[in-house]
Amino acid sequence: MNNNAIRYNQLDPAIETRVEALLTQMTLAEKVGQLVQVVPFGSLEPDEMLKRIQEAKETGASFQSVFPPRPGINEDIRNGTVGSILNLADAALVNQYQRIALEESRLGIPLIIGSDVIHGFRTIFPIPLAESCTWHPALLEQASRVAAQEAAAVGIDWVFAPMVDVGRDPRWGRVAEGAGEDPFLGMAMAQARVRGFQAGDLANGRRVAACPKHYVGYGAGEAGRDYNTVDISERTLRDVHLPPFKAAFAAGAGSVMSSFNEIGGVPVSANGFVLGQVLRQEWQWPGVVLSDYEAIRELIPHGVAADLKEAARLAILAGVDMDMMGDAYHQHLAELVGEGIVPEVVVDEAVRRVLRLKMGLGLFERPYVDESLAAQVTLRPEDRQLALQAAQESMVLLKNEGNLLPLSPGKEHLALIGPLAAARRDLLGTWTLFGREEEVESVLAGIQGHLGSEAALSHMPGSTLAGDEPIDAASVVALAENADVVIMVLGEGHNMSGEARSRACLGLPGRQQELFDIVAQAGKPVVVVLMGGRPLIVPKLIELADAVLMAWHGGIRAGQAIADILFGAANPSGKLTTSWPRAEGQIPVYYGHKNTGRPMEGTGTTQFMEPFKSRYIDLPNEPLFPFGYGLSYTTFVYRDLIVETPVIDANGSLIVSAMIQNSGSHTGTEVVQLYIRDVVGSVTRPVKQLRGFQRVTLQPDEEQRVRFEVSVHDLGFTGLDKQYVIEPGTFKVWIGPNASEGLVGDFEVA
Ligand code: BGC
Repeated sequence: MNNNAIRYNQLDPAIETRVEALLTQMTLAEKVGQLVQVVPFGSLEPDEMLKRIQEAKETGASFQSVFPPRPGINEDIRNGTVGSILNLADAALVNQYQRIALEESRLGIPLIIGSDVIHGFRTIFPIPLAESCTWHPALLEQASRVAAQEAAAVGIDWVFAPMVDVGRDPRWGRVAEGAGEDPFLGMAMAQARVRGFQAGDLANGRRVAACPKHYVGYGAGEAGRDYNTVDISERTLRDVHLPPFKAAFAAGAGSVMSSFNEIGGVPVSANGFVLGQVLRQEWQWPGVVLSDYEAIRELIPHGVAADLKEAARLAILAGVDMDMMGDAYHQHLAELVGEGIVPEVVVDEAVRRVLRLKMGLGLFERPYVDESLAAQVTLRPEDRQLALQAAQESMVLLKNEGNLLPLSPGKEHLALIGPLAAARRDLLGTWTLFGREEEVESVLAGIQGHLGSEAALSHMPGSTLAGDEPIDAASVVALAENADVVIMVLGEGHNMSGEARSRACLGLPGRQQELFDIVAQAGKPVVVVLMGGRPLIVPKLIELADAVLMAWHGGIRAGQAIADILFGAANPSGKLTTSWPRAEGQIPVYYGHKNTGRPMEGTGTTQFMEPFKSRYIDLPNEPLFPFGYGLSYTTFVYRDLIVETPVIDANGSLIVSAMIQNSGSHTGTEVVQLYIRDVVGSVTRPVKQLRGFQRVTLQPDEEQRVRFEVSVHDLGFTGLDKQYVIEPGTFKVWIGPNASEGLVGDFEVA
């Protein structure tokens, strides 16, 4: 862990003095300007935009250069009516705008440049959901640091990441951007990413601030539809959705993005409870709340504001400090203050927060970016190596019948089939504004690298990724029949998960399932490499394939990482951070569910016994693969659970350990997981809750006692009176390889 991370959430008296001095000099218009964030481009007709993007791709021009500049942007900066620019990644333009802000505006306040840097800037790492499957926070911290360093070199000060929304619904395309279904794991990942982004010792001497998002509850949209209605209890909000944000703040995050969704009838960007009471009163957090893109304007279609002026009033009074692209503050905030509807002290407080962040970032001292740094945004060998490690550790081996994997290069003749086998852009996944397709290694290239000669490999796409083009079954069968082993690379393209990419059917897009069925009939051993931004519901494929590797969208080194795993140069260690459903109808399916009064197991109703249980009549309740699940080329035995602290007191810790042995023949890394259950509470408790995890690497036959310490303070929940409580009583504890297996013991909280 890097201890050099900067904290943007602590008040520094020296900065506070400077903020106050500046604030007293500001006109109301200048104050409002600090609360306005805009994109630097003007709009284009969609056809024209696509044409220009295509041209830029061909000429290698920057993403920015294809758009016309925003009309009047120079005047707005000069007049101090814009405080921040988003999605600008061009050092020369950043300097041009900063020069106007510093030298031509009355007070010379620098702009803050924000951007979506989600899983890498130029060096693209696996999508965040995949990265969470490494269960390796230190690795995520390093990856975020690399992203910060590259982004800072082109003048980005503020990254709209990490996304810390708990995602329990894989229909929602944005599960790809988060750390999965569990708040405890989500807290660890959130902290690691914040520390990485906010590293205080970036080689280019610049600083970057993280902006955790989307505050809050955005992952709980009904039916998995993006932007949809959220109606959850305050307890679920506090116990499931708020903790990763609180953890991100504890790691030093000094800003947060308010989400698009409503909670129980009140859109978050007008929600005084989550923005005011929780953030400011309970947590005493002094950071900046930035709205999501036009989220303030969207208060109109939500139906809580009649017009933009009312939207501005609701948002500022609820506690949104900065308006991203909504134009509401720019148009109406000064007027609302003038009319006495919004007290000026409210605006002042928002401006303080923004100035605090700008000063914390050192923007007043170092507003310009050295334009020669941009040339250094290349793929450094050590960063490519880190991207390879992240890709290898993120992939989850779901099935390996008869130990078909690893394959031996040179021994078998291989057929490589599938529309993603030679793909490159798709491997970057969602949200890669600045990644480059030509820098991605395909699976085909990765496999060829291992084989050394092309003779041992035949390749065909077999089908398109989506769409309905007929499959040439005879050629596919011929290729498969000629091979000793068939490797298929199937799944989602990069634009089938992420924002606004919800899916109702989570099978393979297009005709890929048909392609698989054709290959399966050839009767050869089949290895399926699945790609996607979410678990895919492909039960028949998983049943018929001999081996299945979930490779997600693994970034620039994905092809190499996959080949390394297929040929045993890397031993898979990734474990699922989201339960893998059997069918869409089970969703949401997650391990930390409640027991109900009529559980499947244990004591429940006596009414006619069997049928009257909380269950489906057509499928098991359990997912196909549980949270925490993933295979290795070796096997691990768990034994000798010892609860060292059978009774713990009000300030104590649970200490528990188990012996883990590598009982197979490969060196491997196991993610050992600790779960607890509070058996009886004043409110119902989840049947299991993750409270610890460790990665251990063991040689064949090697064993190690893995010991966990869990503070009693981490065993509580939101009680009847909505306060956090730790209640005395009996708990169960498990140490195991996933959420549904493990050694069990118990302990008392006295
Ligand atoms: C997304 C945010 C993103 C913002 C700025 C929004 O549509 O929800 O995650 O940071 O756009 O690009």
